[in-house]
Amino acid sequence: MCGIVGFTGRQQAAPILLEGLEKLEYRGYDSAGLAVRNDEKKVNVVKAKGRLKALAAKTNDGKALAGTCGIGHTRWATHGEPSTVNAHPHVSNDSSVAVVHNGIIENYIELREKLTKKGYQFVSQTDTEVVAHLIHYYYNGNPLETITKVMTRITGAYALGILFKDRPGEIYAVRKDSPLIVGHADDGNFIASDVPAILEYTRDVY
Ligand code: GLU
Repeated sequence: MCGIVGFTGRQQAAPILLEGLEKLEYRGYDSAGLAVRNDEKKVNVVKAKGRLKALAAKTNDGKALAGTCGIGHTRWATHGEPSTVNAHPHVSNDSSVAVVHNGIIENYIELREKLTKKGYQFVSQTDTEVVAHLIHYYYNGNPLETITKVMTRITGAYALGILFKDRPGEIYAVRKDSPLIVGHADDGNFIASDVPAILEYTRDVY
């Protein structure tokens, strides 16, 4: 089991995400990554194999990744070796969708074959990458409808944090059989795999 943290609000997201992921280190992980965005600007993704301090070093403790909305992940590899390319977030080919995932997508081989036939290019060995491409495939401008549709196509256990390029300031999250909480604070809102990640900011959690 590994970790997800997401933040959207008034502060810079990357330092909050790194701090939150550190609090989830007890869950174990082999790599980590962040996707952060500002307003209409594109989503920036940075990933690193190994400890969180490698990711912190790559991003100058998060300061090099500007933006007030983002998702972070620590990975415990189930499909594909621990590596930078297999680390999350995973993105659609046009980078319009970014996804972090805890859990396992059981029918990913079948979905990967179908999506490959439709022209999607896979860059990682993970089960998770199908989710980014599948969301892109079904995206109709309505994230909730799209995610609901995707949930009918994927089987397994998952907690997902999702950014859409055309939805600045918004994080979408869904879970099935994997833990995920939502936290509310005056300066912003959170998602996380577990309470310690966001306890410093809020106790208003559901
Ligand atoms: N199954 C996914 C992977 O191997 C997610 C693993 C996790 O929960 O960290 O990338």
